[in-house]
Amino acid sequence: MEEIWNGIKGSTRIIIKIITETVHRLVINIFDTLFGFLNWPEKKLRIKIVILQDPQAIPIVSPADLDTAIKYAKRSFKKNFNTRLLPYRSRQPFAEVLQRKAPYEVLYTKGSISALWEEFAITGSFFASNLSGLFYPVTAFVVLDIDHASGCSLGPLTDYVTLDPDGAKSDSTLAHEIAHACGLWHLTSKSNLLWRTSGRGDEVKWWQKNIFRSSRHVTYW
Ligand SMILES: [Zn+2]
Repeated sequence: MEEIWNGIKGSTRIIIKIITETVHRLVINIFDTLFGFLNWPEKKLRIKIVILQDPQAIPIVSPADLDTAIKYAKRSFKKNFNTRLLPYRSRQPFAEVLQRKAPYEVLYTKGSISALWEEFAITGSFFASNLSGLFYPVTAFVVLDIDHASGCSLGPLTDYVTLDPDGAKSDSTLAHEIAHACGLWHLTSKSNLLWRTSGRGDEVKWWQKNIFRSSRHVTYW
């Protein structure tokens, strides 16, 4: 019974996200959909980083381990998209440890397309119930391991991304995964922020600015 319920909740969430995203790109943020490459005025993107605890109740990484990734994302988003990266609640830190115990399926998540199936199961329900807010902020969960990856995002279909300890401690993975959440997909140019693996640059193309700035996560307020 719980599996069916998780499936219904997951499907409902995804339908709501698709509608919300479409409204933002075609109505609320239409100026950025067309002219985002102009990069003005300055926009805001709020995030929260939620560090899970391992089965021994030890935080998977410490909040300070994410300092490099936060600094990188702040600089890259300001430079590339004229967007200020802010913590979800002003004057609060970006990263905090979640005291609630996470199930095994959440601590060891699947990457890429398998992550989509998890959205309809216990993992998706857990992430949804620990998000920092509706629609606008992006929540980054630090988990123990992601299959074949150090970070994962389902793009605009969810309001969260995941990082494993390597991803959390690397420079560009957080920025890369948030860029996916804001609608960007992989490119084959190594100097681009959307290059698939680490060692990527942080350049973006003009049309990537349009897509990023018209995302529901990137706001004027
Ligand atoms: Zn990616």
